[in-house]
Amino acid sequence: MSKITDKIKEAVRAVDNLSKFKKFSKLKASYVEYDKFTDSNLHEGYFCYNCIYWINSSGGKCMLVEDSGPDVLGKVSDVIAPHGCCAGYEPNYDKLHDTRNPSETGKTIDTEKNKERITTADLS
Ligand code: SF4
Repeated sequence: MSKITDKIKEAVRAVDNLSKFKKFSKLKASYVEYDKFTDSNLHEGYFCYNCIYWINSSGGKCMLVEDSGPDVLGKVSDVIAPHGCCAGYEPNYDKLHDTRNPSETGKTIDTEKNKERITTADLS
């Protein structure tokens, strides 16, 4: 195969990979945002705040899920709220109050870490 053909195929694959990197809509990700959780301790429970994909910029964004559009309840907030959650949640143990048994992880777990209460109102 000629070098130019290889170059073209390489470029086409690169463009194809870029177009595949598209975020999920809130609906597709089953994202939900309940106002009653704004005053909850974000270090405990399944919240975007302690998910590895959450980015605390411009009011809250996610690496996997679009911040625009309605959630599964039809609410349109145009952010990924720290007290929201979706089916793609992955815990970030640097933020989550880690209550796992050390025998589950094989690591030393500091169960006192992240006990300080942080709510949505603490973030701005
Ligand atoms: S729980 Fe879902 S929407 Fe929230 S930060 Fe994680 S992946 Fe994004």
